[in-house]
Amino acid sequence: MEILDGKLVSQAIKDKLKIKLSEPGHQDSRPPHLAAILVGNDGASETYVASKIKNCAEVGFKSSLIRLEADCTEEKLVSEIEKLNKNEDVDGILVQLPLPKHINEEKIINLINPAKDVDGFHPVSTGRMVQGLSTFIPATPYGIMLMLEHYKIDTSGKHAVVIGRSNIVGRPISILLSLNTNPGNCTVTVCHSRTKNLKEICLQADIIVAALGKPGFLTADMVKENSIVIDVGITRVPDSNKKSGFAIKGDVDFSNVAPKCSYITPVPGGVGLMTIAALLMNTYNAYTQRLKINN
Ligand code: NAD
Repeated sequence: MEILDGKLVSQAIKDKLKIKLSEPGHQDSRPPHLAAILVGNDGASETYVASKIKNCAEVGFKSSLIRLEADCTEEKLVSEIEKLNKNEDVDGILVQLPLPKHINEEKIINLINPAKDVDGFHPVSTGRMVQGLSTFIPATPYGIMLMLEHYKIDTSGKHAVVIGRSNIVGRPISILLSLNTNPGNCTVTVCHSRTKNLKEICLQADIIVAALGKPGFLTADMVKENSIVIDVGITRVPDSNKKSGFAIKGDVDFSNVAPKCSYITPVPGGVGLMTIAALLMNTYNAYTQRLKINN
């Protein structure tokens, strides 16, 4: 069994980005610029945004954080996005989700200029991804693909079972794994809350992507020998032994599942770190496209 090490792979990607920024063509220009909007002060969202900003600084990107009150109007958020869309100094825009209930998330996502859609949630990005065209791929599925690529895992002809069908993880990773690409070329089964016989389906999988948000859901009896298991889940579980008062748990019962796997991602230290690296890649690509820099 080999651990798919998100720390190692994300660091390799960040090192590569740092080198690219020091190359001719980049040195004379301003750095890539990611603008993040955070509405309200949800604890997990605060942590994610802080981490994205810290990682931008680490690779030499500029970042801006626009904070809005939880009760801010939809109009206010719309006007901030419109300003960022027009701002020539901004390459990538991300609106941290989830948004407060009174704001229409779909409307907000659709407003972001597709050329700056580094989260890859705009329907234009989704449409291009489905057709296998170059685009911004949502950071978590993109991070998983980068991880598979780094470890040169041969996915061709494998049966991949994706548990979860959300627009940010399950649906896009199921599409990416089924494309005629490398990694890709899998036969994909998408499972969700209405799926019957989930255990039987998982037992037929060569690759399982668990993205449902239920800690320890995927147990050893659901996994065949030598499977590749990708754990996307991140759930905060109360833990009085931790200074923060909670522990981060994945969707996989890691200690019992890992011995059966050929490869497995840990939580933390797996897909979460790759998500940030993928966001940096998207921001870098948005920047080179906008400034017409060869990358
Ligand atoms: P979501 O709630 O939008 O979707 C969950 C999906 O799981 C749904 O499609 C649902 O049908 C399915 N599901 C729920 N219960 C099920 C069951 N019993 N059997 C089969 N399917 C079931 O969640 P999401 O936004 O896709 O996130 C999923 C998990 O991934 C969460 O823990 C989230 O925190 C985590 N996440 C991690 C990263 C990362 O960077 N590692 C990024 C995004 C999300």
